Amino acid sequence: MTKGTPSKKGGKRTHTICRRCGKHAFHIQKRICASCGFGNTKKIRHYNWIKNRT
Ligand SMILES: [Zn+2]
Repeated sequence: MTKGTPSKKGGKRTHTICRRCGKHAFHIQKRICASCGFGNTKKIRHYNWIKNRT
């Protein structure tokens, strides 16, 4: 089987389930959640440009 894009194999997982936001975005090595920022800051990750527009 040949595919154009080579992918890294192995059981190494970069992210795991974040216990605060519940998303699969918690970086294991960095110990930082990419979604809510858990582990990096006490505050919940939030940006001003995130607005709920409908
Ligand atoms: Zn999180």
